[in-house]
Amino acid sequence: MRDDIVLRLDRATAEDPYAAFYEAGAHTAAGAAITPPTIEEAARLGNPLRDLGHALGRRCSPYGDHAQR
Ligand SMILES: [Zn+2]
Repeated sequence: MRDDIVLRLDRATAEDPYAAFYEAGAHTAAGAAITPPTIEEAARLGNPLRDLGHALGRRCSPYGDHAQR
């Protein structure tokens, strides 16, 4: 399927997007509060979020720190 998006994450890295999806999805569905990520978790989400955005064709700010990638 040509339009698929595939992200390859090592197991440890995959834990952070999983936790974020779980918080946003399951807690919202249940009407429960979303627990904000720790600073460290939020920082670790940056790389997979960037990669997903790039895979979807989004462009970063030309002033972003990884705009040349
Ligand atoms: Zn970018």
